[in-house]
Amino acid sequence: MKIVKKLEINGIVQGVGFRPFVYQLAEAHKLCGRVANTSTGVSIHIEGTSTAVDNFSRKLTENPPPLAEITHVKIEPATSKGYTEFLIEKSQAKGNRLTLISPDMSICADCLKELHDPLDRRYHYPFINCTNCGPRYTIIDDIPYDRPKTSMRHFQMCARCQSEYDDPMDRRFHAQPNACPACGPQVQLHDNRGEKLSSENPVADAVAFLKAGHILAVKGLGGFHLVVDAENQPAVETLRRRKRREEKPLAVMSYDLAAIRHYAGARPEEEKLLLSSQRPIVLLPKKAPHVLAESVAPHSRYYGVMLPYTPLHDMLLKGSFKALVMTSGNMREGPIAIDNQDALARLGAMADYFLLHNRDIYLRSDDSVVKTINGKARFFRRSRGYVPRPVFLKRALKPILACGAELKNTICVTRGNQAFVSQHVGDLENLATYRFFCKTIQHLKRILDIEPEYIACDMHPDYLSTRYAREQENIAVQEIQHHHAHIVACMAENQVEDPLIGLAFDGTGYGSDGRIWGGEILWAHLDRFERLGHIAYVPMPGSAAAIKEPWRMAVSYLHQAYGKKLLQLELPFINIVGRRKVETIIEMIEKKINSPHTSSLGRLFDGVAVMIGLREYVAYEGQAAIALEMLADPSTQGLYDYDVSQGDMLEIHPEPIVKGVVDDIGKQVHPSEISMKFHNTLVRMFAEICVDIRMDTGQKRVALSGGVFQNALLLSGLTKGLEKKGFEVLSHTQVPTNDGGISLGQAVIADAMLSK
Ligand code: ZN
Ligand code: ZN
Ligand code: FE
Repeated sequence: MKIVKKLEINGIVQGVGFRPFVYQLAEAHKLCGRVANTSTGVSIHIEGTSTAVDNFSRKLTENPPPLAEITHVKIEPATSKGYTEFLIEKSQAKGNRLTLISPDMSICADCLKELHDPLDRRYHYPFINCTNCGPRYTIIDDIPYDRPKTSMRHFQMCARCQSEYDDPMDRRFHAQPNACPACGPQVQLHDNRGEKLSSENPVADAVAFLKAGHILAVKGLGGFHLVVDAENQPAVETLRRRKRREEKPLAVMSYDLAAIRHYAGARPEEEKLLLSSQRPIVLLPKKAPHVLAESVAPHSRYYGVMLPYTPLHDMLLKGSFKALVMTSGNMREGPIAIDNQDALARLGAMADYFLLHNRDIYLRSDDSVVKTINGKARFFRRSRGYVPRPVFLKRALKPILACGAELKNTICVTRGNQAFVSQHVGDLENLATYRFFCKTIQHLKRILDIEPEYIACDMHPDYLSTRYAREQENIAVQEIQHHHAHIVACMAENQVEDPLIGLAFDGTGYGSDGRIWGGEILWAHLDRFERLGHIAYVPMPGSAAAIKEPWRMAVSYLHQAYGKKLLQLELPFINIVGRRKVETIIEMIEKKINSPHTSSLGRLFDGVAVMIGLREYVAYEGQAAIALEMLADPSTQGLYDYDVSQGDMLEIHPEPIVKGVVDDIGKQVHPSEISMKFHNTLVRMFAEICVDIRMDTGQKRVALSGGVFQNALLLSGLTKGLEKKGFEVLSHTQVPTNDGGISLGQAVIADAMLSK
């Protein structure tokens, strides 16, 4: 019996080979009808036997093409239109503005095969791509997503490429970046003065330069990388010196999993992440011994590792290196370079040679960084491969632009129940990053066709993102408390709306009382919060200087516990920084000179790290805290005393913990044990605090958010500790737990406040 059905499919279904896929599936099931792009996705009309129609619908929804992501399917009966074949209808010229744009995707297996096939016309062509792979987000200037609206508009397709592009049965049907050696972009080698080098085979010559220990700037998908042979210690050191990056680990890229095994271990879930089409940098534990240069990731237990994601990467690595250092092409923390001229100007002092190409990058996108904790992938940085995929919310929001925080900034715009969190913008501390921030807002608004009606921003009056929000005219601004935003971001991505206990732990966030918060126990609603407790305030001598010089925080906690007698303690850091300086800091604390108060847990980590002798000065925020985590010996069981004062506001007094640490140092307990006991203490203490709150409120749900939860020991320890006590624990898997997730929380809170 013949039946007729209509399928409306929403999600990432355009520009991902969806219609040809539907066409081939319909043909295979001998169905008649048509498929068309609509303003919200794809619409399919099918006529055929009921078995065929059912099988077709099931296969399509259960097994869509690789880059597609179906968010909603509506299947309903329809009336026959007398089709005698299956057709792909031409797109309407306008109206596909509500569809989702695919993120940039790594080279697929089919293209890889052609890349290495000497008989293929795209043999060794570094820009090979198809409907299932290649650049998307980074080359789009405007919508609809068609070639003239991408940076491929400068390349006229040759006849063969055009016929692939026009053929619904071809895997390059409507692949907007389709190209070949005859008609597409090309690579070129330049020296660091910008002179073009004559080269028959620029990629092979680039490999030779790398083999010889030179530093190359290589133009990639979302920006430039600085590249060097990861086995060559002097070359890696030179790169660090030129980039003025002292210790922060450098990311590496290897050809395949086998190559990675020479220096790092990956569990099955990590291998899956490495091989995923998003190709993030995955943090993997170092092997000992390993083959890479010591200065790739000194003092770290981890390597940041990725697999090749463009054809060019594949060609650079195949058969040549165990690993290449692939670090962002920037100086310090400025935005990564994307433009050829800009790269030559900014990276010329760092790179010896440049491997350039002439396909423009419209929007920079850093490599994403993930680490698996408790069996789940956690974003440390969410960018290439994931953006602009939205976070799907429980309900529709008003159109809102949320400006994010200051460090690790992202922005977020909302459309219906979709929240689009931007790629990593960076630290809004310089004009270049601020410009990138503004550009990202304009770009996302344009390609997503969103005109925000409200703006949300942090409460911190001096954040550049807050200033931006306040400068916008004719639009209402909602200021959102930082730690409330952390917790609601976590609620939003877990689609939870009911109030819960929020533990928001980070380095710095502006509090409702004007002080610096960061160790916060909140009772969080979507539209408001109550502060149930926090770590007792301590002075931060020298304000921001105490972040770069964590020994100042050590003095502050020790002063809280011992007063002036801290000078009699046998702690190595006191002599390392010098008694005089320590005395000055004590004076600042006692006379309340430039010493704002903080309740930050991140700072307590810093202070303890200094006490046990890890480091007195840091190159980036959180470095001492990370060192403390890296050091911990997970087999240690003990813990320190702690003191939580009860009352209207719970206050955690760090003194007993600090004294326990100092006593252990005196007893020459190994620092790895002290570190673990410190972690154990926090886990036990916060779990018990939650139990106390449950006794008063009956609340069984806890959300964990804030940069401190990048700490795997704390996140997995506290999750397990709370679960054992019967709590449901929410944490982040879709946006970073650090300030990269703030913009999502801001948007959801602003909507809830406005809806009241
Ligand atoms: Zn492909
Ligand atoms: Zn061509
Ligand atoms: Fe934060």
